[in-house]
Amino acid sequence: MTDSVSSFEELNLSPEIIKALGKMGFSSPTPIQSKTIPIMLGGGDVIAKAPTGTGKTCAFGIPIIECLDPGITDIQAVIVCPTRELCIQIGDELRALVKYRPDIRIVTVYGGQPINRQLTALKRKPQIVVATPGRLIDHMNRGSIWLGNVYTAVLDEADEMLKMGFIRDVRKILNATPADTQVVMFSATFSREVMDVAWEYQHNAVEVTVAAEGENRPKIAQFSLLSSGERRFKDTLTIIKALDLHRVIVFCNMKSTVRRLTERLKRAGCSTDCLHGDIPQVQRNRVMDGFREGRFEVLVATDVAARGIDVDDVEAVFNYDLPDENEYYLHRIGRTGRAKRRGLAFSFITPDDRYRMRDIIKYTCSDIKEIGLNEDGQPVLKSGERLTELLRKD
Ligand code: ADP
Ligand code: MG
Repeated sequence: MTDSVSSFEELNLSPEIIKALGKMGFSSPTPIQSKTIPIMLGGGDVIAKAPTGTGKTCAFGIPIIECLDPGITDIQAVIVCPTRELCIQIGDELRALVKYRPDIRIVTVYGGQPINRQLTALKRKPQIVVATPGRLIDHMNRGSIWLGNVYTAVLDEADEMLKMGFIRDVRKILNATPADTQVVMFSATFSREVMDVAWEYQHNAVEVTVAAEGENRPKIAQFSLLSSGERRFKDTLTIIKALDLHRVIVFCNMKSTVRRLTERLKRAGCSTDCLHGDIPQVQRNRVMDGFREGRFEVLVATDVAARGIDVDDVEAVFNYDLPDENEYYLHRIGRTGRAKRRGLAFSFITPDDRYRMRDIIKYTCSDIKEIGLNEDGQPVLKSGERLTELLRKD
């Protein structure tokens, strides 16, 4: 089998899917897609490791849609993912893929949304369900979801989901599917928990890895800047202005920082909104939609929004605080530089953070350059070279 499939046509996809992909603006499969799709179409299990932004949703979405029997009204594919945001996003991408397949119904079920709405949607007999683990189990217990005829089960962001303590739920879900169900796992890392679940539920799974380097690696120019306390607010504004940025995510570690920074940015005339765990679901969706549609420019968020969220064209990610875990550094900056676009990442560090930063550099194998701000408010490298010049060059 060859890895080097360069067109969707070579994957023998149906005209309806090819047409939908065209409509979505995708001209050729990403590496994870050209590796995963043939295996899944052949019915095989897959355990795939790939960094964010490599197109995993379509990698499992396309074969699932192609293998469905629309005549069967049972749920045939279940996709389990860790957060509601991701659930909604996967649902949206799959709906775009079935644009020309009116016979396929997709339902998303996640915590925080009124259960009645989901019950009504489930009565329409979807063949594909996208769900967070807790709510899925709820429905299974109520009898509104039955997985006894599932052909494919996908665990998306498996490492994250298992790390969040969903292992029992995931087992319960997989136990409710037939023993010969195709089990497909996608993960940024192959953690112990991921390997355990793979061992227990997969059969002869093909391991697919897309390395976080080379042409796949999102092009993200990364910088750190000594700045702490209140200075960070001014420096954020200065960089946004100097580089003329209009689509930015700022990550903070605490809700209180998110709230305060959002207020200050608004007062400074920046169109800003925020996401954190205390914001009700309905409003979170509204904020995400608003950001996706460009109704405001700066999204301030805690790590709630860090994982999986797909917004195109994010120009820059700011780490207002360094994340507590190295892995989160990657998740956060993975919001920019998606699908081969280039991106920028700025991390504010205190002198004490320098050791952490070195650790992050080692862990993530990234090149993070230290910058400063000159008296004209221009971000410059240690050499004095302006960032605007540097970025023009590559
Ligand atoms: P991951 O789950 O690996 O983080 P996503 O599935 O969210 O990645 O895809 C990342 C981005 O790339 C999305 O905006 C998606 O629409 C886009 N994308 C997916 N497949 C392709 C493709 N074949 N060509 C161009 N863009 C794609
Ligand atoms: Mg994904």
